Amino acid sequence: APLSAGADTIAAVATPAGRGGIGVVRVSGARVREIAGGVLGALPEPRHATLADFRTAQGAPIDSGIALFFPAPRSYTGEDVLELQGHGGPVVMRELLRRCVALGARVAEPGEFTRRAFLNDRIDLAQAESVADLIDASSTEAAASAARSLAGEFSQRITSLVAALTELRMHVEACIDFPEEEIDPADRKALDEKLSAIRVAHAVLLDAARQGAVLREGLTVALVGRPNVGKSSLLNRLAGEDVAIVTPIAGTTRDYVRATIELEGVPIHLIDTAGLRDAAADEVERIGIERTWAAAASAGAVLYITEEGEQPRVEDASLLARLPAGIPKAHVFNKIDLSRSTASTSAAGKDAEIHLSAKTGDGVAALRSWLLETAGWRPHGEGLFMARERHLVALRVAGERLASAERNTQAFELFAEDLKITQDALGQITGAVSADDLLGEIFSRFCIGK
Ligand code: GDP
Ligand code: ZN
Repeated sequence: APLSAGADTIAAVATPAGRGGIGVVRVSGARVREIAGGVLGALPEPRHATLADFRTAQGAPIDSGIALFFPAPRSYTGEDVLELQGHGGPVVMRELLRRCVALGARVAEPGEFTRRAFLNDRIDLAQAESVADLIDASSTEAAASAARSLAGEFSQRITSLVAALTELRMHVEACIDFPEEEIDPADRKALDEKLSAIRVAHAVLLDAARQGAVLREGLTVALVGRPNVGKSSLLNRLAGEDVAIVTPIAGTTRDYVRATIELEGVPIHLIDTAGLRDAAADEVERIGIERTWAAAASAGAVLYITEEGEQPRVEDASLLARLPAGIPKAHVFNKIDLSRSTASTSAAGKDAEIHLSAKTGDGVAALRSWLLETAGWRPHGEGLFMARERHLVALRVAGERLASAERNTQAFELFAEDLKITQDALGQITGAVSADDLLGEIFSRFCIGK
């Protein structure tokens, strides 16, 4: 479909399919006034709720309800918009939509209203994405951070960074034509200060975006350890239900089992790995072991589980050595109920040792806290933004270029180039710089009527 705003008029049922107290048909485009005239008999007063009968071409009633008319440009899409709120039955909604189409509208594609809002500069790209995120939000925290992005907080922070970069670029361009020795030291100092202020603002924004992304994507955690240490039991304890089969026979968990739990609105994806033994008994177990390592390597954190009080084993040492470096891990000493030890936690940097019992639940709260902390969650998520992966990628590119700029402060041409690329990367977030295929991709994931 073409991405231009187009003069054609689109219509859709904006409320969910099925029966409901209220159903809304939304219409946007150049023919809205004609359509209002046809369905309602007259154009409603702008931005006022008007009680009206919705009628067929022959004048027969389809429904009666509230009509709302938003003249361009002060509407959701920036075009003339008509909203017809009727009774939310599927037949009523279908008839109303059919009537609008007969009067010259066509049925909208998913996300088309929001796409028009973007193309008509009512919202930027990051805001458009947050419309979908708000609708899809699975927790209060996720909804709040999407709402902040929709209100434009994220975009404003990006825009002010871009403005600071523009100012710095002008400063650099002004210096470019002069030989190095002619640059006023005060000028040089101001330039350095501007750059470091930008780097700080960027780092704060990246952090807020990364934390917001956690609410959306969550953390993947691999549970690893020898057979029978209690991996499946711990997963069941965390999930609070029997998702994995717990069995006392070594090596019976042949493949990993996944479960997603939600802690404070953060999705935590747990992977119970196959029993890890140096020598696999058979082909099935060998494949299970291979998958284990693949899962552990791509996880964001690892729970390495042994039994409380047991002597360190050779297999454990080799297992630990194979875990990817830099990935946060908690060494869980399970079954403290057997040795009558008490639950305790010690943390060293991002790694921790946690003593607990999957059977009694003793000490599991400490594990939950560690998971949350490792996921990047912090209490009272104010200031977080529901960032998407593409926002993080752009922010990271910007960060690398800013670091490069700092190395190039003595070479103005390179310095200016770094700033330009930084600006372009940030511009992709708000859609100031964007490719058509990216737009198509973003809006195609919307529901109809948005
Ligand atoms: P996995 O092979 O690592 O997945 O271990 P399982 O979860 O299948 O557990 C192996 C055995 O240890 C089962 O009999 C469990 O009931 C038992 N088990 C697991 N956790 C605990 C615990 O905290 N305390 C006690 N006493 N037994 C446990
Ligand atoms: Zn198991």
